[in-house]
Amino acid sequence: MMCVGRACAWLPRKIRRRVRECSEWMTTLYYTLYFNYFTTFFLALEVMMEPLFWFVEKFARFLGPMFVTLVTVMTTSVVTIFYVCLLPHVYDISLGLTVFHLIFGHWLLANIVFHYVMAAFTQPGTPPPQNVPEIVSVCKKCISPKPPRTHHCTICGKCILKMDHHCPWLNNCVGHRNHRYFFLFCLYMWMGTIYVSWVGHELFRQHFYGDKPTRFPPFLYPLNAIHDAIYNPKENPKPQVFIISEDSPMIEENYLEYYYHIAVLYEFILCSGVTLALGLLMVWHAKLISVGETSIEVHINNTQRKKYKKKNLIYTNPFHYGLKKNWMVFLGFSNFSSFVRRVLLPSTHEPEGSGLTWERASYKFHPDKGLQRVSNGTPTS
Ligand SMILES: [Zn+2]
Ligand SMILES: [Zn+2]
Repeated sequence: MMCVGRACAWLPRKIRRRVRECSEWMTTLYYTLYFNYFTTFFLALEVMMEPLFWFVEKFARFLGPMFVTLVTVMTTSVVTIFYVCLLPHVYDISLGLTVFHLIFGHWLLANIVFHYVMAAFTQPGTPPPQNVPEIVSVCKKCISPKPPRTHHCTICGKCILKMDHHCPWLNNCVGHRNHRYFFLFCLYMWMGTIYVSWVGHELFRQHFYGDKPTRFPPFLYPLNAIHDAIYNPKENPKPQVFIISEDSPMIEENYLEYYYHIAVLYEFILCSGVTLALGLLMVWHAKLISVGETSIEVHINNTQRKKYKKKNLIYTNPFHYGLKKNWMVFLGFSNFSSFVRRVLLPSTHEPEGSGLTWERASYKFHPDKGLQRVSNGTPTS
């Protein structure tokens, strides 16, 4: 206490001693109630974040089915508009081109639907309660052993093998058994949105821009919209509106034309927007798969790298087997034929390994070449 020091020297010694004793009791009482040798900043942060976790846990369960319904409704609407509005437009140009679009479009659609259903309904994998061959820690929530690369999902309420993240768009966790389905769904959906944007961009240009010149090619609608909003806010192109007033004849063609116009705009704006958003997600996940990391491990490994660097050491990710092998293990192919069967076509093959134990890459330090990944004593890429 402050007044026990020199500032309170004028007080009688007896009172000063009593005040000091009182202060020591209060300090001891405080530590008795709150002190914990194992308390760290991150533990305190975790406790503070508990209400947020509770909120996510409670509401993600309701949001998940809503997001899945949204994906299903939007995909169905895009496919329907493609059949009703875009394909007849292509047919007017060329019959050969229409046949190509029917084959290519249905190949993409089959892959999108298959990988989405499999990603959403395949269990990502959980560790067994006992007989875990390799245990790295114990889950605080499940009070059960955790194999390497396993993490607890607060939304699913269980541990997930090689957990990547909990995806609300799938209403499922992405882990060991459905990671490939998730990634291939993103890839095919991305290709699908690019394809639809490409097929529909000419119709969109006619309906949205008319003869107005654009800063970027018309099919890059989001970039044009951003550019116009910044530089020419007053000249921002407005879609032509088909007004059906009381004076105009209420004939069916007017309504059909109006719905056609809206459908063309909706199809292109939705697909080109998703192309950009999904493109960023794709690049991020492709980068992680290339270096053998999950979305959770990227943070753990970055922390480890910093810790090792302080000690003048180099941290190496033990699950990074080299670019080529990472992709071969992840997608489960070994040659061109299995690539066609397992990646280009829908395939239900299981991922390599049980997800309970993982092969670890080994490294050697070469004085000239630096750190080298080795397999059976020979350097790998
Ligand atoms: Zn757990
Ligand atoms: Zn989950």
